[in-house]
Amino acid sequence: MGAAILGRECSGNSRESRRERLTRIVLVTEKDLERFWSKVNKTSNCWLWTSTIVRDGYGTLVINGKLVKAHRFSFALASGDPGKLRVLHKCDSPSCVNPDHLFLGAVQTPEERFWSYVTKTPKCWEWTGVLNRKGYGQFTIGSRVILAHRYSYLNAYGNLGDLCVCHHCDNPKCVNPEHLFLDTRVKNNEDCANKGRVVKGSQVGSAKLTEQDVVAIREKYARGGVLQRVLAAEYGVCQQVISKILTRQGWKHV
Ligand SMILES: [Zn+2]
Ligand SMILES: [Zn+2]
Repeated sequence: MGAAILGRECSGNSRESRRERLTRIVLVTEKDLERFWSKVNKTSNCWLWTSTIVRDGYGTLVINGKLVKAHRFSFALASGDPGKLRVLHKCDSPSCVNPDHLFLGAVQTPEERFWSYVTKTPKCWEWTGVLNRKGYGQFTIGSRVILAHRYSYLNAYGNLGDLCVCHHCDNPKCVNPEHLFLDTRVKNNEDCANKGRVVKGSQVGSAKLTEQDVVAIREKYARGGVLQRVLAAEYGVCQQVISKILTRQGWKHV
């Protein structure tokens, strides 16, 4: 039964040696195995964990009173105890436990891991990892989630306090430090794009724009032939502010 439950043909290893490998991680019973696979949805290419998911997206289960990451457990079942090495996903889906999607990686520094998620084009350097609902890259260090473009800025230029990092290129996925700048007026609210909402109107002390500016910006843009980037430069604000104004997500009251 045990071998069948493993869900993968053994590659020359006997059932006994596989059992030996299993017991190296934790003592696993047939019941544990049944419990494990009953929580896996194999209906797609990725075998997704359907039980407890922790904050960083990995599935977890308790075996013998010990909290175990589901993908590490699956890897161990198929290929043996990963020991201190990391078990990584080829599919970028942390809750996937398909052993064919898992591989062993050396311990990487956060910076190495960060750049492994970045594809550099001649212009923008795009984040290929997890995006938040606004399209910004998200990078996880331990239990902390940081916006990828903020991490990149921090890495390139040092401390940014709690100020907002904006894009010259209007590409939220971009982490090219040369395309990023600090908006010294706006405090970071975990999400730069929120700032149109946070800085609401000229009644806010730090606001650079007046209601008249906002009306003018909308008119200029409506007439056509002017880029948001140009308007942003003209009014000394971040492009996202212009974008919020134009889509009426910000300055709704004007
Ligand atoms: Zn997968
Ligand atoms: Zn860019």
